[in-house]
Amino acid sequence: MKNQACDSSVIKVPQLERIPFLQHGFGDLVWGEKDLRKLADRLDFKLLFLKQVHSDVVHFIDEVPERRLRGDAAATRLPGLLLVIKTADCLPVVLVEEKKRVIAAVHCGWKGTSQRVLEKVVLGMKEGYGADPAAILAAFGPCIGGACYEVGEDVRRAFSDSDFPASLFRPITGRSGKYHFDLRSANRLQLLKLSVKAKNIFSLGICTHCDPKYPSYRRDRDATGRMLSFIGLT
Ligand SMILES: [Zn+2]
Repeated sequence: MKNQACDSSVIKVPQLERIPFLQHGFGDLVWGEKDLRKLADRLDFKLLFLKQVHSDVVHFIDEVPERRLRGDAAATRLPGLLLVIKTADCLPVVLVEEKKRVIAAVHCGWKGTSQRVLEKVVLGMKEGYGADPAAILAAFGPCIGGACYEVGEDVRRAFSDSDFPASLFRPITGRSGKYHFDLRSANRLQLLKLSVKAKNIFSLGICTHCDPKYPSYRRDRDATGRMLSFIGLT
């Protein structure tokens, strides 16, 4: 189905867009919940929002839940269900394994990333639904870029404790104990480790902190909105 004017602010990844039974996208500051609901109505989708808590909790959805689930990732094979992630600087990731018709949507903040939430999603897609990691396509939405994401020792330590490479952190000159952190790469590494192919990882490369079209918690604190990312099987 072709998009109409109402979702002109949604970015799609061509490699996912060509899959006939799949809908996905990354909204911006302007494209809000009203637009998402319109799109869901038009395509006959139920919406699945999570109560996101910066965790590594993944929900494997085999029937539509009655209440909002607490966690930061959802995977399903159910058609007609649109998995939604809300972010402002954190990395939204959507995944699909075309043959097995399995999808997932993931909220990757630094905490969830240090707990390897994305790894748990891919393992669950594989073990629970028979997905082949080498056939998984993953799309990384807009998030805060490595040059803008300043973190302290606590974050660096959390990642070294979870065996991530030190190269994800670049010391900031003249500011002891402060680092620039590459959130995208930290998530990319998790996919590569599980045999997701580099050529199947698509990154939009937009920095939410630099681009005023996107919400950034670091830039605007509580005044900022959230961007919506979604994926669903028709
Ligand atoms: Zn930036």
